[in-house]
This record gives sequence, structure tokens and C-alpha cells, in this order.
Amino acid sequence: MDAIAKLQLLGPAAQVEPAEDVGLLGQRVPAGRTPVDLRDCISHATLPGGRRMPMLKTLVSSVCENDCRYCAFRAGRDVRRATFSADELAGLSYRLWQQGLVKAIFLSSGVVDGGPATQDRIIAVAEILRRRYRFSGFLHLKLMPGVEHSQVAETLRWADRVSLNLEAPNAQRLTDLAPRKEFTEGLLQRLRWADELRKTGPGRRPSLSTQFVVGAVGEPDVELLLTSAYLYRELGLARAYFSGFSPVPQTPLAGHPPTMPQRERRLYQASFLLRDYGFDVEELPFQADGNLPLDTDPKLAWAKANLLEAPVELNTADRSQLLRIPGIGLKGAQRIMEARRRGALRELVHLRQLGVLVQRAAPFVLLDGRRAPQQLPLFVLT
Ligand code: SF4
Repeated sequence: MDAIAKLQLLGPAAQVEPAEDVGLLGQRVPAGRTPVDLRDCISHATLPGGRRMPMLKTLVSSVCENDCRYCAFRAGRDVRRATFSADELAGLSYRLWQQGLVKAIFLSSGVVDGGPATQDRIIAVAEILRRRYRFSGFLHLKLMPGVEHSQVAETLRWADRVSLNLEAPNAQRLTDLAPRKEFTEGLLQRLRWADELRKTGPGRRPSLSTQFVVGAVGEPDVELLLTSAYLYRELGLARAYFSGFSPVPQTPLAGHPPTMPQRERRLYQASFLLRDYGFDVEELPFQADGNLPLDTDPKLAWAKANLLEAPVELNTADRSQLLRIPGIGLKGAQRIMEARRRGALRELVHLRQLGVLVQRAAPFVLLDGRRAPQQLPLFVLT
């Protein structure tokens, strides 16, 4: 099999792994789909800082000795597999980069001969790209379960982003999902090493991310968000990805129902509240079963319970108070604080000019001491 044919096999396999900061809009090629051409191996990623660029996503190998219960590439499953040599994959990636087809590369892999040996192969591709080909694009590298401390350091040396999939929010759930993986030592400890090394080591300071499989083993949202909050707070995680479970034929979870996309959406919304908006997990509007309601934005639900009777005065609120108001995002809060230095905010139309979603915000705010009208005047809406 030549390198192009391998990429056509391994590229789509990697699309199920979110690596882009596309959040709620991300579109992935379903596992197992045969691509029409190499464009199906390239996704458009929004990277840290807001840059958008085409990203080549591929596995180094789809051979795997692990038996994660949900995975299309688990050991023993009948599926066509391939493995790149380091030279082959680095050369092909370089050609795509040189031709301007990609500006970012994401490398993951099935596990062969243990996590450390697999990590060596990922590192080898990265080193060839950086050293031989002077690849200066964005490089996102996976850390394999059980990698050694020195390998974490070596991976950080070449990468702009490093990710390690925790897959489950705690040890018990991981045992149900991926019996050969060990949560605390095998996975979480490696993420901790990555954070320590990037703070203390020389050179690059790659961002860190992780991924959870959602809905495969009965974990409620509160477990996923407690672990996410810990990772944001303690390890400065850039992003927790939530991948809704989708059953794969010939796996132990083939008969398990798929996770509704709306659950992924609510988890992302809640995790952004934890990461960027100063919310604690305990403040999120969980139901009795530990899940977020699917029919309500968690920030809106919090505001209905807490701000309807205590609206926020936009002319005096500090940033943390502004960020609690539905319809006001990070940029909107900043703009409000700048605009009110030039004069009091008195009208909804002023807010709209600042990028606020006024229909969402209106029930929860005061404008110069007065309740805001619940909607804009008609002539402003047209
Ligand atoms: S380690 Fe688990 S999730 Fe990763 S490829 Fe192997 S079986 Fe799939």
C-alpha cells in the first residue's frame, strides 16, 4: 500500500478525534467512511488565537493491541489496517504542507508494542518534520497511555498542542470503557507531567487538551464536568473535548444507543462556563440524575434561577457579574466596560451595538437603574 492509500485509510480514521477548536460547529467524517480524495483527511481548524487553517489529521497506525469497548480499531475487530513508517508520513505531510494544502498536522495512533513504543513513532514523525523539513506549521501530537516522562518532554519539544485522551471522567468509568487503560497513573499522571514540563522546560509551551467519550458507560454530566473543572483549574487545560458515543458494529457496545448531539452541545456550553466565565460546577443546573437539561442553555437556566429577581446594573457591574448574564460573552463584557467609561448605558440599542444578544440579556439587566424593555423597538429590529 503506498503512502497516499495509507492516508486515505488512516486520515478518515482520525477524524473521529476532535483536534480543532471548532466547538459546537465541528463536523467530522464518520469512522469507516472511504474518502473520495485527500481533502477528506483535511479539516478546517480554528487554532488558539482564532487562526483558521486547514489541518491534516491522521493516525500513524490503525493497528491496536488495546480493546477499548467502543472503538472501531480495538484488537481483534475485523477492519482494514495500515501503518505509516515515520519517513513515509513525515514526507507526505511535508508535501501537503509545501503545496499549501495544510498548515497544521494532527497525529494520533493505535497502540502497538505498548504506549512508549507507539509514542516513539509519533515523536519520530514530528522530529523529521521539524528538523529535516523545517515544518513551521501547527503540530498537534497525541500522548499515548503509559508514556515515559522523557517522552512527554520530547513530545512537548516538537508540538504546539499536546493531548492525552482521558476518555472517561474517573477510574471506575474508564475500567468500564477501556479495561486495559489505567486512569490515575497511566493517563492523568502523564497530563500532569506535561503541564509541569511545559511550565519549567525550555522552548515551546504547547497547550494541553483531552477528550472524553460521552454516554457509553452511564457517566452523568456532573462527573465529566467535575473532572474538566479540575483540569482547567489545576493543569491549565486549553480544551476538554466531548465526543458523543456512536455505536460501532462488532464491538461490545454495538447495541448501546448513540448519544444525542444536544448532550455534547450542553457539555461544551457548561465547560466554557467553567473555563472562561467563572462558574463552579456546583452552580450548574444539574437534574437529579446528574445530567444537564437538554432543552436549556445552562447559563440561561442559572440566570433564570438567580438573576430574574436580582437584575444586574450594567453601568456598575464588574466583569465577573457581566459574564453571568446570558447574551453577554467575553468580548461583550469587555466592550460594555469600555463603552460605559464614555457615558451611561441607557438603551438596549446601545447593547446591541456592543455585540450583546439583547433579547437574551434584557430580562436580567438594569440600564441606569431601570429594568430594560424586554425587546428592542421595532424600528431597530428591522
Ligand atoms: S487505544 Fe483504545 S481507543 Fe485507541 S485505537 Fe486502541 S482500542 Fe481504539
